[in-house]
Amino acid sequence: LEGVAEVRVALMAERRERRIVLVGSGKGGVGKSTLTANLAVALAGMGHKVGVVDADIYGPSQSMLLDAGGNKLRAEGQTLIPHQSEFGVSFVSMAQLIEGGRAIAWRGPMVGKALAQLMEADWGEAELLLVDLPPGTGDVQLTMMQQFKPVGAVVVSTPQDLALIDAARAIDLFRQAQIPVIGVAENMAGYLCPSCGEVSQPFGQGGAEAAAHSLGVPFLGRIPLAMDIRVGSDTGQPPAASEGAYAEPFKAVAAQVAR
Ligand code: ADP
Repeated sequence: LEGVAEVRVALMAERRERRIVLVGSGKGGVGKSTLTANLAVALAGMGHKVGVVDADIYGPSQSMLLDAGGNKLRAEGQTLIPHQSEFGVSFVSMAQLIEGGRAIAWRGPMVGKALAQLMEADWGEAELLLVDLPPGTGDVQLTMMQQFKPVGAVVVSTPQDLALIDAARAIDLFRQAQIPVIGVAENMAGYLCPSCGEVSQPFGQGGAEAAAHSLGVPFLGRIPLAMDIRVGSDTGQPPAASEGAYAEPFKAVAAQVAR
């Protein structure tokens, strides 16, 4: 029995060392998955050992973002073995477990079980797990907050009022669960027209920074709306892995998440 207790203590210690950071948004389509993938790649570039859990069970996209899709997960017994991307980030995603294009029609309890399997994959040396949450404030968020003790949460929003209202809800949820909000990142902020060179603001300007200040949470920086970011995302080449101009904004946000 003593042996069992020792193993349990060792397991608990191992769990405590692995920091879990949630990436959430109130609204879908604001770039939460894109930011998660690029934060992970940027953090790996800074020398962190990072894993990504694609907890967007109904709309998984990390498999595409980090490895152009098509990759499958292996398992040893009941334990999933995360897939290693070429960018030094290992990840698990429902997309690796189902056939492409198939919908997942599950109720809460099934989702909870799937989440536990993803979280309890063989993360090896990973010291930081970034969790790409589904949009909103539902089952997955609750399970994640209650069962896995995240150390903090990043909230992604566009500068648009409609997205910011939902971002405020996400922040409220994390606060209710006493999970520190690391800050708000503004995505799709400003578009530099490649033909005329003019910068326009399709989703408005500065909204997320103002919202962060009024809600009393740090502002982590802004990522521009850019064709290169979209193309890199669709082809499994996260811009944060490149030397290009679009790596910088992701690295700047990542530096604050690592603190
Ligand atoms: P979410 O996870 O919030 O639903 P995604 O990360 O899937 O959002 O992004 C939604 C879409 O917008 C994707 O097609 C993605 O490639 C694109 N996208 C996200 N951020 C940017 C950006 N900064 N510039 C250009 N396209 C972006």
